[in-house]
Amino acid sequence: MSKPLLHQRFPALVETLGFRRLGTAPTPIHALDVGTGVPLWCKDDGTYGDGGWGGNKIRKLEWLLPEAHRRGKRTILTVGGTGTNWGLATALYGRDEDIDTVLALIDQPLDDHVREQLSRLENSGATLYFTGTKARTVRTVPWLLLRHRLPYFLPAGGSSPIGALGYVEAAYELAEQVAAGAVPEPSHLVTAVGSGGTAAGLVLGLRLAGLRTRVVGVVVNDALPLDAPRIVRLADRTQRLLRSRGARFEPVELRPSDLTITKDWLGPGYGHSTPAAREAEALAAEDGLRLETVYTAKALAALLHLDTAGEFGAGPVLFLNTYGPR
Ligand SMILES: *Cc1c(COP(=O)(O)O)cnc(C)c1O
Repeated sequence: MSKPLLHQRFPALVETLGFRRLGTAPTPIHALDVGTGVPLWCKDDGTYGDGGWGGNKIRKLEWLLPEAHRRGKRTILTVGGTGTNWGLATALYGRDEDIDTVLALIDQPLDDHVREQLSRLENSGATLYFTGTKARTVRTVPWLLLRHRLPYFLPAGGSSPIGALGYVEAAYELAEQVAAGAVPEPSHLVTAVGSGGTAAGLVLGLRLAGLRTRVVGVVVNDALPLDAPRIVRLADRTQRLLRSRGARFEPVELRPSDLTITKDWLGPGYGHSTPAAREAEALAAEDGLRLETVYTAKALAALLHLDTAGEFGAGPVLFLNTYGPR
């Protein structure tokens, strides 16, 4: 299945929005037993990606890499932490599409996980700049744009409207899985929020696909301003992008109250592990699911707590696994 559901749903997009299949869809959904009171399922986007890395960034690249070609760009410039999954995915999948990657890397707490990731980055063929603080990185970007002759600049996490399409597509995919009986319609979908593109794409896509599932975003990044109004703004920009490229649909009204955002699981900051995250990571591992403490284990920790607080009613709840090491 290589034609995206968005192209099937909105045929005008075939001409206006390129798509390159980089993984195997649909991603599997299975029951997850980590001791919740509510029925819990996991959509495992960690399995997505046929190249050297997987996870949620691959779905964004399926739209972003063709868009780079559309714009006549042979180089992508983007930013991330020193352990960036996004930068690694861009370098590996870009390379296969003849696109060079330049990364400005912001310091993040160094642990074994980040050191391993750094060596993968060094072997990925990307050009790396260690730009230190966020402020210094922001100041360096204009220089890098000139130095690399006006590459396609992408924000952290690939969370532009084009990148968010990856999770509009994933929402349509989930709707098909619900229709086919692979999973009951979730009352809530819990995901980590690092740059907001995944949550924004889901908020828009779930609505367009006719699901009533509420997105619960667990913020894990304090370096970016991430709250419900900003995520809804990105979802709205994504909606406008789709319409400007010819998709015909009645615009949906999106409000910040349509999703839940919590910052209670961030701990000391981006990349800092927390006891709750380590506990959630261990619980998931017992059920065969590999998480990490930067994103996914913090999201699961929030889910476990919200479940205890009775926030999900009767559920069922869907946990989105976004981490895809290879
Ligand atoms: C980037 C990332 C996220 C967050 O997705 P955003 O679209 O940036 O909010 C979640 N989990 C993992 C493993 C990631 O690499």
